[in-house]
Amino acid sequence: VSVWSAVPAGPPDPILGVTEAFKADKNSRKINLGVGAYRDENGKPYVLPSVQKAEEVINTSKLDKEYLPITGLAEFTQRAAHLAYGAESVPLNNNAISAAQSISGTGALRIGGAFLARHYPTSKAIYLPTPTWGNHIPLFKDSGLDVRGYRYFDKSTVGLDFEGLKSDLRAAPEGAIVLLHACAHNPTGIDPTPEQWATISQIVKEKKLFPFFDMAYQGFASGSTDRDAHAVRLFVKDGHQVALAQSFAKNMGLYGERVGAFSLTTTDPEEKARVDSQLKILIRPLYSNPPCHGARIANTILGNQVLCDQWKGEVKGMADRIINMRERLYNILTHDLKTPGEWGHIKSQIGMFSFTGLTAPQTQVLAEKAHVYMTSNGRISMAGLNGSNIEYFAESVDAAVR
Ligand code: PMP
Repeated sequence: VSVWSAVPAGPPDPILGVTEAFKADKNSRKINLGVGAYRDENGKPYVLPSVQKAEEVINTSKLDKEYLPITGLAEFTQRAAHLAYGAESVPLNNNAISAAQSISGTGALRIGGAFLARHYPTSKAIYLPTPTWGNHIPLFKDSGLDVRGYRYFDKSTVGLDFEGLKSDLRAAPEGAIVLLHACAHNPTGIDPTPEQWATISQIVKEKKLFPFFDMAYQGFASGSTDRDAHAVRLFVKDGHQVALAQSFAKNMGLYGERVGAFSLTTTDPEEKARVDSQLKILIRPLYSNPPCHGARIANTILGNQVLCDQWKGEVKGMADRIINMRERLYNILTHDLKTPGEWGHIKSQIGMFSFTGLTAPQTQVLAEKAHVYMTSNGRISMAGLNGSNIEYFAESVDAAVR
């Protein structure tokens, strides 16, 4: 008898499972709107020209493959912090931001979860928006935190449940941790307005909550990396100490390179040094030190004004294509097909995803009858749509809801 004979089979990953079903489908019209990876106008993965240039620079400099330090390439984390917090940031300019390179956004969240579980003095409770990126829940549980939810999505308006959000945060125990999607909330595509962010910051202050920002889409929501960093910068300006998980998967298209950063704002360089030391103690037994290639790419882009401007243009290009797809999908459903229902949210939502309002049975019909694949919560990756498939997609949705 094998030692593993009692290991139960677990369920497949709900998001990656969609891709499996898509791959198995032989129909030529099939569309995969499940996974959150950008596709160009031809439906192909996109390697950013700025990334290609950075790789040429790296190749010609013939760097060695020695280990990076435990917290990664310091130049990269410094530049990543600059991109997120902004040149005017007080903790940045005071050398009071403690940062570690991470295995993309997931790794940053996990370092953060583990650090908070070990060192955050007040609470083990972390409040996540309902719904949230599915991986947040096991990730923070596995980090040793007590996972709870706050209301976020209003089904009836397909918009933000701001009243529910406020009352849940006000009802949270003093000092609890609250996870906030910095921009382009996944899966809903619904973000608070600047006024609503100001109110959330106020509540976080009143309740002494600890804000942990997940910023997986900086630049992807609006096309501007500065505009998308609004909430993080507002909270820092309002005097909050924050934790921040950054990912360069989407905005630099570096998915498989796993480039990210975790950071904490501290009060001064001496406190930062103590926090740095504990980040190292935490990371060393996990994976010793992070990989170098992807961080070198991001570092090369962020460290060169010309290349960085080019990159920002390319991020805007991706964001604009998605915004254009939203516009077209809305117009086809509402004006051309006169599809029953209200579809305005497709235009008002931002970022990679749209929460369509399609039900689980409708998504199943779409997969089986139309070869259109999405997660069963009705979330679609807008990046999977393009000029060649958007009409077919809209017609399929139209048929599924009638
Ligand atoms: N947070 C959110 C909200 C996400 O949507 C994602 C990617 N789907 C991540 C974090 C992490 O992604 P990665 O580890 O690829 O950077």
